[in-house]
Amino acid sequence: MTVSSLTRRVLARTDVRKWTWWQLPRLPRWYIGAVPVVALGMVAFAASQTVWRSSDLSKFGLLLGCGMISVAATPRIAYGQGQMVRDFLTVWVLPVAILLPPVYAMLTPAPLLVLTQWRIHRGVVYRRVFTAGAISMAYGVASLTFHAIPPSFAGPSIGAGTHALTWTLAVAACEIVGWLGHHIFLVSAIKLCDPTARLTVMELNGEALHADFAQIDLGLVTTVVIGVNPVLAIFAVPTVLLARRFMMHAQLLAKSRLDNKTGLLNASTWESEAEAEIARAIRTGSPVSVALVDIDHFKVVNDTYGHLAGDLALRAVSDAIREHLRSYDVAGRFGGEEFVLLLPQADEADALSIAERLRTHIASMPIPIDAPTGGRSTPAGTCVRLTVSVGIAALDGTARELTDLLAAADSALYYAKENGRNKTHAVAAVGLR
Ligand code: GH3
Ligand code: MG
Ligand code: MG
Repeated sequence: MTVSSLTRRVLARTDVRKWTWWQLPRLPRWYIGAVPVVALGMVAFAASQTVWRSSDLSKFGLLLGCGMISVAATPRIAYGQGQMVRDFLTVWVLPVAILLPPVYAMLTPAPLLVLTQWRIHRGVVYRRVFTAGAISMAYGVASLTFHAIPPSFAGPSIGAGTHALTWTLAVAACEIVGWLGHHIFLVSAIKLCDPTARLTVMELNGEALHADFAQIDLGLVTTVVIGVNPVLAIFAVPTVLLARRFMMHAQLLAKSRLDNKTGLLNASTWESEAEAEIARAIRTGSPVSVALVDIDHFKVVNDTYGHLAGDLALRAVSDAIREHLRSYDVAGRFGGEEFVLLLPQADEADALSIAERLRTHIASMPIPIDAPTGGRSTPAGTCVRLTVSVGIAALDGTARELTDLLAAADSALYYAKENGRNKTHAVAAVGLR
């Protein structure tokens, strides 16, 4: 990166009027802004109540250093885009919350998240600031809770025998307080930004719960080890990195199935899913259809507003496709500005009505293309309108392979284009058999 581009980026960040935070709707904007501000106030108050000891400061330095090493050594690819990332930061916040006064746990997230942002140059800054505030408050409360438990049960040192067990139990309870608090902040923000977001998809799916359990468990084990002797924190770093890499595997696998730009299935994944679905339909004698969707005159958008604006429009069309399909339909990006849909349990008439619903919706939706990534500077509020042409082929006596269905849908699409675009056609309707 050249010095001038770095300077430009830093200046852009300091220009308050250009913060993407302003683009949020009013309620989430104030919520997301208020959490870090309140956290800052709580840190200041906690700091004023803390007796600063050099032994605490050196313990804090050691734990924060281990956390920084584990962030620095995590591969950038582990920080996926658009999904909730389990970054294992709380594995380092928990021992700080337990072994030191609350203010230290409240201070820990900020440097770790600054380092994360600096390393990956990706992700919206206000989200990291919000996350820092949320973790700070949640683990500040967890720390207060732990310090309020009587020393006969918990206390400053792990001890031995039964006390070691009750101490560990108290740590687990505080971890749950911190984890719950952090997730309540996070889920509320997501829900305020997108009321249609589904909790079961975001948080209560097998993968997310598995990752959370691993994170909570690792935090607990790390705290117990550090409770025995803080220097042992050094041995926890490779373990955390190993767990992080293990979690990445599922993340990478899911990512390799998707098209980067649209989040729909990529062509090869769609094909293998479609083949399996068609084989199932033949076996069970149920209907299935294939639809090819092509954006009309898409090149004009690129030529007029630039490629990045074109990408925003492409994303808007793919979002519309996702929203308008049934949960068991399979949508993929076939290439360029072409999408492909597999519609199980849909004969030709069903497929026509699904496609018509989608086509009329897309034709009526204004697509904003003045987001910050909109490429050539487009005036605020600029929208484009797009239409799509759709070709449909249903499984029947003649077309029984995916390639046959795709070829037939392609012919129907060609017919729709030739006959004025913004149309849906099925093979039978245009007499192509
Ligand atoms: P038609 O109605 O005949 O389909 O016209 P069209 O302009 O949509 O089709 P054409 O095949 O002439 O051009 C497709 C355009 O789609 C050209 C290409 O630059 C653009 N395109 C393909 N993939 C992407 C992409 O990922 N992002 C952007 N912005 N444009 C893309
Ligand atoms: Mg096109
Ligand atoms: Mg095309």
